[in-house]
Amino acid sequence: MLIERIPEWLRKLAKDAVFMIPQREGEKKVYLTFDDGPIPEVTPRLLDLLDSYGIKATFFMVGDNVRKYPELFADVKRRGHRVGNHTMHHLQGLRESKDAYLADVADADRYIGSDLFRPPHGWMKRSQGKELSAKYRIVMYDLVTRDYSKHLDAGDVFDNVKKYARPGSIIVFHDSLKSLPRLFEALPKSIEWLMEQGYKFDVLFK
Ligand SMILES: [Zn+2]
Repeated sequence: MLIERIPEWLRKLAKDAVFMIPQREGEKKVYLTFDDGPIPEVTPRLLDLLDSYGIKATFFMVGDNVRKYPELFADVKRRGHRVGNHTMHHLQGLRESKDAYLADVADADRYIGSDLFRPPHGWMKRSQGKELSAKYRIVMYDLVTRDYSKHLDAGDVFDNVKKYARPGSIIVFHDSLKSLPRLFEALPKSIEWLMEQGYKFDVLFK
């Protein structure tokens, strides 16, 4: 619970960050996000899967992966998804000086060019966040599926979605090697269950 749904007190500490999208009357949307790509082992298959459901999502990318796989980056955008900055080297902000962290984000920006930012490992220093929020919308998440965890199987990941999804949820999966053993079973099940519950899918801040 502490991981899958970030507690309120922690959300209040991150004042500049978005965790959910307020819903209008009668609206029932969730926002799928995919972190840490793009990589050839996962992203192309994921794009085909999303296309098969007609779903657009938001990809928080590692700049160094975009540098290595520019054609994947172009494909994500061409298929109508939104992209966001997830630093150049997937830095843990708490271990970095403000200047080093900001320089790494700026480096990623040269490849990604987005006004959305998500801090790797779910946190950063207040000084880093304050500075970044002047240029970026800081996007966290309402639901961490934990698709990356080797202690979970695809059924557990799907259970997390069923248990914690709610209207306005920003949901995080990963297009990463760590999530690969679970992603392509847990994600379609989750999508189909969410559709059955009447949810629509949208990109963030389009
Ligand atoms: Zn990440």
